[in-house]
Amino acid sequence: MSTGASEERGAPTDDDVLVRADDLVKYYPSEEDFLDQLLGEQHWVKAVDGVNLDIREGETVGLVGESGCGKSTFGRSVLQLEDVTDGSVWYDGKDLTELSTSEMREYRTEVQMIFQNPFASLNPKLTISDIVGEALDIHGLASGREREERVEELLDIVGLQASHASRYPHEFSGGQRQRIGIARALAVDPDFIVCDEPVSALDVSVQAQILNLLEDLQEEFGLSYLFIAHDLSVVEHICDRIAVMYLGNIVEMGTPEELFAEPQHPYTEALLSAIPEPDPLWEGDRIILRGNVPSPLNPPSGCKFHTRCPHIIPPEGMEIDQTTYRDIVDLRMALEDGSFTAEQAREHAEAGGTFDREGLVEEVLEQRFVEKPTGAHRDRVAAAVEQAIDDDLEGAAATLLEDYESVCENVDPQLPERENPKACHRYDQPSEVEQAVSDAGF
Ligand code: SF4
Repeated sequence: MSTGASEERGAPTDDDVLVRADDLVKYYPSEEDFLDQLLGEQHWVKAVDGVNLDIREGETVGLVGESGCGKSTFGRSVLQLEDVTDGSVWYDGKDLTELSTSEMREYRTEVQMIFQNPFASLNPKLTISDIVGEALDIHGLASGREREERVEELLDIVGLQASHASRYPHEFSGGQRQRIGIARALAVDPDFIVCDEPVSALDVSVQAQILNLLEDLQEEFGLSYLFIAHDLSVVEHICDRIAVMYLGNIVEMGTPEELFAEPQHPYTEALLSAIPEPDPLWEGDRIILRGNVPSPLNPPSGCKFHTRCPHIIPPEGMEIDQTTYRDIVDLRMALEDGSFTAEQAREHAEAGGTFDREGLVEEVLEQRFVEKPTGAHRDRVAAAVEQAIDDDLEGAAATLLEDYESVCENVDPQLPERENPKACHRYDQPSEVEQAVSDAGF
């Protein structure tokens, strides 16, 4: 199986690095349909597709992206709650795949997870004492009176009272339940915690309290966090660095100041523009990304974001409005995947009250383009639309491909080793990527 991943980096040489994901890959076998079973074919859901990420002692690294981009799978893989497909995870200088059983047991006390949903993540049948004390029991860390005192101490640390120990989860609010989840994670005295969307199910006012608590605990206990979120505004104030993830890959990495300052990776820019209450640092326009995140079962070629990117790169030297170019690529993709048909073209025309050939073409352009192409671009696009009207969808797509093929759909950009790196052909790329671009004739 090809993972499409880059070269592994090996053990960290910097003593400050507590956690290293080294070219980490996690693929899941897809549910096979009848035809696949008959042909003996196995397809893979590429949830995490070659991620490099270091987390230093005492650092908070944010991992941000739309749902389905692989960020939770990445967090679970780092904690070894998932078997990784390829690559490795290093913790405190040790390769986790090479730990003995007893070393792995010790690792389990050094890392913990805080879950997204404080309503679902606590067993409703257990008292708070049993929930928070469970890890103490499993790892044999305390029993009897000592256990009770430790549970009370943990409840106090997270802002709850000792008397809460005998109660059940349903007696608490969402924010209090998340505090219980945090107390449970702290029970084994960990050094590293994966916080998987810990505040996204909470009211905004409660979110701030939990974020403040996590920051206070970090300072008090020297914790390191991987903070997973789908919203950049949540991670902006708590993180030292932020990694932006799209369809299994990190596409940009930087400090909050770097990410909020221009220029950004086109996907980061879209995420920033989607923040409901714009950050004062953000001065751009709101960007509505078209379409959903593509399936990780069959990700797009080249840059995986090219099917939605508002800044997809036109052929070199071509003078074309960026919005028009995006619309031309969208039309070609619709012809290729069968979502635009001759029948649809005729329906568009009928809706506009036109039935002659020229009217048909005009109506399709009207319907599909924000800025209708002009001059030579109009002639080319009109020729392709005429082919589509004649039911030659393949020919129409080929006509558009010939003139409007982008480097973005052919060569996979990489995240360079530098400050504020961006996996995008609009920014400096490693020499091997530049070579691939030149070999592909762009
Ligand atoms: S490589 Fe191309 S498609 Fe990908 S983000 Fe950059 S400009 Fe957009």
